[in-house]
Amino acid sequence: MKKKVSEHPYTIETRLIHGEAYTKKWDYNHHVVPPISSSSTFRLDSTQRGAKGFVEFAHADRDLSVFSRAPIYIYDRLGEPNKDILEENLATAENGEAAVTFSSGMAAIAAVFGILTGSGDEIVAHWMLYGSTYSLVKNWFPRYRIGIHWVDFLDPDCLRRRLTPRTKVVYFESPVNPSMQVIDIEKIVEVVKAENRKRPPKNRMSLVIDNTFATPFCQRPLEMGVDFVVHSLTKGICGYGTDMGGAIITARKHYDHLLQYRKDFGGVLAPKSAWPILVYGLPSLPVRMKRQQATALEVAKFLRTDRRIESVHYPGLDTFPYYPIAKKQMHDYEGNFAPGSLLYFTLKGKDPGTRQHKAERLINFLAKNAYAITLAVSLGNVRTLVEHPSSMTHSTIPVEKQLQRGVDPGGIRLSVGLEDPDDIITDLSTGLGRLD
Ligand SMILES: *Cc1c(COP(=O)(O)O)cnc(C)c1O
Repeated sequence: MKKKVSEHPYTIETRLIHGEAYTKKWDYNHHVVPPISSSSTFRLDSTQRGAKGFVEFAHADRDLSVFSRAPIYIYDRLGEPNKDILEENLATAENGEAAVTFSSGMAAIAAVFGILTGSGDEIVAHWMLYGSTYSLVKNWFPRYRIGIHWVDFLDPDCLRRRLTPRTKVVYFESPVNPSMQVIDIEKIVEVVKAENRKRPPKNRMSLVIDNTFATPFCQRPLEMGVDFVVHSLTKGICGYGTDMGGAIITARKHYDHLLQYRKDFGGVLAPKSAWPILVYGLPSLPVRMKRQQATALEVAKFLRTDRRIESVHYPGLDTFPYYPIAKKQMHDYEGNFAPGSLLYFTLKGKDPGTRQHKAERLINFLAKNAYAITLAVSLGNVRTLVEHPSSMTHSTIPVEKQLQRGVDPGGIRLSVGLEDPDDIITDLSTGLGRLD
């Protein structure tokens, strides 16, 4: 048997293709590509083996050797090879100890709150979040007597002042969707650590970041002291827009708790969705991101020169106010600046209504006439996608609050794909020309 690959000095980019190479999660060592597992239940050979499987499930804390042995698979909802191998590779990608996958990004986000909060606890979150996360916390958690405080994390002092002895989770996204504002992760970590030092271990807060926008290629928050990273695998990690999924990456000590939660709430990632993410998505993430972010910079520079545009928000643009923070914390596996493939720009106009009208005209023109740009929500796709956050993804947030929190009715979000940069620019330029 070869050595575990993690003992070799190979780069993460190579490891995202080969994984553990001789993983114990799968019996068929001679397959180069892991087969799609399509069995909801597993033969157990004897009651003793069945009993051992149940004892070992979600009890890796008792016996760490569980991680290095072939698991006893019992039933898909508890674990099966495809998502288990994907989880090993996701942990590698985020430089974390353990990963647990879910049926969607929202299932993963609900799970992280699920294991960290109970009745009477409070969450402090950045005041601009992904639409469904905002709705989950605002509309559902009050039923369970879980409180929420919205704070502007761009000012870490605001966060410090809002923490109470009941705060159990501090939650944010960076770059912020859709404004692309960059929150200083190190500063948020400092605030949380300082407060935790005053608390007994069992009452400590956890810091959670949604890293979907950056992807682990551009940013690895666990290395900066964040406790939990959540992802919608549906976006940049899957990359091809074929499957939904979610994941939590964290320290090994939380692994069992997450598996138990997933077993009982049931939001498991289907093996048929884990497989394309494992075989196509994650191995190609670095090469896709390198090309997409180079194109995003070209597109951002083009947009900056257009007289109909008020502002271009891209962390890689040196005129963007958050460029210095992005430069500090967004790096690829080799340490190069990695500002990602998403950008946001706003159109000029004297009032919000005029700007909204212009954004709708531009997007509707692109929807009908552009070849390289598609009107669709989602992001991180190999196809360039455009959308109007104010009326679509962020419509659950009232317009006055949107304006205050960095979303403009004349704002347009662009997720840059793998097309030729000139073709994307041609479509944008034709559309902008129609605004005169
Ligand atoms: C899409 C998305 C989610 C939700 O993920 P689903 O896979 O659609 O459930 C959460 N956070 C961010 C930032 C997203 O873009």
